[in-house]
Amino acid sequence: MSVSLKAKIADVFEEPGCDINQGKSEKERKKGCTKQLSPGAAAGGCAFDGAKIALQPVVDVAHLVHGPIACEGNGWDNRHSASSGSQLYRMGFTTDINEFDVIYGAEKRLFKSIREIIEKYDPPAVFVYQTCVTALIGDDIEAVCKRAAEKFGKPIIPVNAPGFAGPKNLGNKLGAEALLDYVIGTVEPGFTTPYDINIIGEYNLVGELWQVKPLLEALGIRILSCISGDGRYNEIASAHRAKVNMMVCSKSMINIASKMQQRYGIPYFEGSFYGISDMSDTLRQIAKLLVETGAGADLLDRTERLIEVEEARAWKRIAVYKQRLSGKRVLLITGGVKSWSVVSALQEAGMEIVGTSVKKSTKEDKQKIKEIMGEGADAHMIDDMTPREMYAMLRDARADIMLSGGRSQFVALKARMPWLDINQERHYPYGGYEGMVELVHQIDRAIFNPVWQQVRIPAPWDVSGDDGVALGALSQLAAA
Ligand code: SF4
Repeated sequence: MSVSLKAKIADVFEEPGCDINQGKSEKERKKGCTKQLSPGAAAGGCAFDGAKIALQPVVDVAHLVHGPIACEGNGWDNRHSASSGSQLYRMGFTTDINEFDVIYGAEKRLFKSIREIIEKYDPPAVFVYQTCVTALIGDDIEAVCKRAAEKFGKPIIPVNAPGFAGPKNLGNKLGAEALLDYVIGTVEPGFTTPYDINIIGEYNLVGELWQVKPLLEALGIRILSCISGDGRYNEIASAHRAKVNMMVCSKSMINIASKMQQRYGIPYFEGSFYGISDMSDTLRQIAKLLVETGAGADLLDRTERLIEVEEARAWKRIAVYKQRLSGKRVLLITGGVKSWSVVSALQEAGMEIVGTSVKKSTKEDKQKIKEIMGEGADAHMIDDMTPREMYAMLRDARADIMLSGGRSQFVALKARMPWLDINQERHYPYGGYEGMVELVHQIDRAIFNPVWQQVRIPAPWDVSGDDGVALGALSQLAAA
């Protein structure tokens, strides 16, 4: 591992804004957060994957992966991060190195690839991602990017997060470091207002940002840059002129918020767009901080009026489902979307949470879940649940639906129980007031889908009685 990468990782581990880090002793902090991965074991995404996930939603730049083609194939377009314009971010660029490159080095190939991209697509910038193989053979992507930037007169940004550096979360932060080192603060915005904010850690999955943007616009608040969903290079480069930063997911890019506070004095807070009361709290926080940094005090009143109208509208629409969903039991296995936000949202719709995973939650998150769920919350907080336990819970009908990521869907389907994808691969947007109505609508659709009645009917060969016996015999014959 190069000295600069080691130093960068140590710096990320020292992050003062990370509450897990704050709870550690000096010795533990030195050790870092990275558990060494065992080769060959499925261990989730690598650091490169994490960096790519964090930065790929910047839609108008070319994302060039320097490494064997499999790395790009691994990370390409597996999320539904949406763009309102350029589609360049969805184009897979890779240097696709071969055996000769491994022997002789692949820096020349990288330089040529950058040139080809610029000639063919002319993007405002190229992001170059380091991977394991090219890091191990000693390719210096920082030097190549510097040379290419001078030659082509464009920002060429090195993202030094090779897979072996650690897990996906570390990669998110190393990706963020690339923005801090090479992008943020390099362009001045055309104009600024006292109502400019940055949203950090929002990836505009299935267009969720667009469920929130109109609310901010109604209050006259401008998103100067979103890092990184539906982001544009020049907007992110001018993010240092915002008045307030909002952190959407504390674990992914907290280093951007805390370093922007140190460098540019921009205050930040952590908020959520999931759940009606969380959405309202977020709007209040934004308004409060903007007023503190110079916006007109009337913003507070206007925010309260908007909240009142929006909440009433959302409740009215949720009420239609509340009757049907009241008392339905939900098993919530989520890593991406914060558990406590979803817990409170579902409770708002009258559902009961029979279990929620807290494996990826921070101490603060767990405390919030306890506050929301009240007495007995501990019994429902699951640190790690094996697929076998999930299956048993669903098969015994101790839950009516499971909300999780795509990987656990087959556990639910095998138990013939409804399932809904709420992680990063989800197909429906659940942000803002509109998103909560959508989530409740989708849960309703999943639970009351007539397919469950059909699949739960015993197969004819499992039914006793003349016909059943006859069919059972037939199926045994067929099997023989
Ligand atoms: S960067 Fe390394 S760990 Fe990640 S996909 Fe490529 S080879 Fe695999």
